[in-house]
Amino acid sequence: MHVFRLRGDFETLDVYSATLFELGARGLEEKPGEVWAYFPERLELPFPGEWVELPDTDWLEAYKRDLQPVVAGPFVVLAPWHEWSGEEKRILLEPGMAFGTGHHETTRMALEALAVRTEPEMRVLDLGTGSGILAIGAALLGAEAVGLDIDPAVIPQAIENARLNRVSARFELGSLEDATGPFDLVVANLYAELHAYFAGAYREKFGICGTLILTGILLERERLVRQALEAHAFELLQRRQEGEWVCLTYAAV
Ligand code: SAM
Repeated sequence: MHVFRLRGDFETLDVYSATLFELGARGLEEKPGEVWAYFPERLELPFPGEWVELPDTDWLEAYKRDLQPVVAGPFVVLAPWHEWSGEEKRILLEPGMAFGTGHHETTRMALEALAVRTEPEMRVLDLGTGSGILAIGAALLGAEAVGLDIDPAVIPQAIENARLNRVSARFELGSLEDATGPFDLVVANLYAELHAYFAGAYREKFGICGTLILTGILLERERLVRQALEAHAFELLQRRQEGEWVCLTYAAV
């Protein structure tokens, strides 16, 4: 594992987290006076800091040890060794390198929005599925879910997570243009610029109507998404914000 050690505290560097994830970071960790960004490969970064190497297992082991259950709406996200006695619907995830453990604000808000909008038998597309968490959540609510991702490394993990949860969600390599609609609901935890770019293509994935849940949107870029979506016959149903992250639910009309 390649670790980029950024100088500064987490509050200062929090603003860079979206960019780091967009550049391929698989995790961020606060350390005294610096933030460690974990990458599968070294790359040029426009931030002050230095690269160090860690054996893959060190990071994974530390990460697994610190992982806590997360409650999001009617769901609780658990690692296979967690014990839980609550009534929540359990999403079991084998922690790996894919984004989507439920610990990020965007994943939690998307799960909560899914719980409000998903009905049994709905056809649901999870674009940018990562660990498969959102497709698995939709499947646990009775939907027929498919998850797509452009990162080939995450697909086997999502398939394994679906198996762990005994749901029949399907996972494939690809992006929006590879999704065969129509869908009743599309959920996408990507980033603002991509949502704005996909606005027209999102609309084409629905029939007469449908629901679109978008997150991964930094507050400062929310306007960009809203302008693009409203220009393509989407009507805002709900807006949620946690910290600097926003989740928008639209009706395709
Ligand atoms: N859905 C999970 C969640 O909510 O926690 C993971 C979201 S993670 C922020 C974004 C995922 O989108 C990554 O796995 C990334 O590989 C994938 N991705 C990025 N651009 C994409 C694109 N154009 N089409 C499909 N997937 C994409």
